[in-house]
Amino acid sequence: MLSPRSVLITGANRGIGLELVRQFLQLETPPRHVFATCRCPDKAEDLHTLAKSSSAVSVLKLDVSVPASFPRAREEVEVILQGSGLNLLINNAGTIDRADLSSVTVESMQSLYLTNTIGPLFLAKELLPLIQKAAKASPGQPMSCSKAAIVNMTSKVGSMADNRSGGRYPYRISKAGLNMVTKNLSVDLMSDDILSTSLHPGYVKTDMGGPSALITAEQSVQGMLTVMAGLNTETNGLMLDYAGKIIPW
Ligand code: NDP
Repeated sequence: MLSPRSVLITGANRGIGLELVRQFLQLETPPRHVFATCRCPDKAEDLHTLAKSSSAVSVLKLDVSVPASFPRAREEVEVILQGSGLNLLINNAGTIDRADLSSVTVESMQSLYLTNTIGPLFLAKELLPLIQKAAKASPGQPMSCSKAAIVNMTSKVGSMADNRSGGRYPYRISKAGLNMVTKNLSVDLMSDDILSTSLHPGYVKTDMGGPSALITAEQSVQGMLTVMAGLNTETNGLMLDYAGKIIPW
């Protein structure tokens, strides 16, 4: 069963992130705290509507491409948690740039690397003391997303084994880098009992996926919550899709 006491989601104002917030609130045991973060809270109308329906939701400003702003966000989270730890960080925010070999630029590579790879790593680093605190609160319990975990929203497009069509340099490389962040964290944080896993949400009908994508955000998130419920030591440091299938790096 998935029952983290607290979860922080980036890019929660639309798409998969918004649906994650919605479905976390519908769990049998919903979190006491859902930190729904986004870069423009003033414009996050759907999120504010959800926040009105549940006192668990805190809408916080967080731009993952500005690591210098992470300490302020962490302080806000700490105040709300009142001494308890953070069970689950979902690095969901991401951007896409499909530039091919002829159009890729230094700027497009740097921009995607910052948002999709550097941001998730440094946010995990910033929130680590809170995640460690959550892990210590249930000594002896096996690793799980309810205890202490970092879930990075990756893409199959970042898999080297799956790459048969080339192109999409900035996006592919930023997600491949994110996968190494996952793997490294899984090794470094194993002794702290903190899980680290990459999830591929499927090809999802969002602004990013577009209308011809294969599944809705609702289906994707339903699948991912089931997968998160089952994550354990065996799936630590792997990439899985929303149906629970392991994707080779
Ligand atoms: P959307 O484009 O619908 O939403 C992207 C979200 O990320 C928005 O909330 C956006 O906020 C946020 N975001 C972008 N840049 C930043 C930033 N610098 N700081 C904070 N938030 C930011 O995408 P999806 O919901 O489809 O994608 C969610 C994740 O799933 C991404 O990581 C994506 O790579 C991954 N994914 C999606 C697939 C799909 O088919 N849709 C397939 C594989 C992976 P804002 O509104 O402010 O721009």
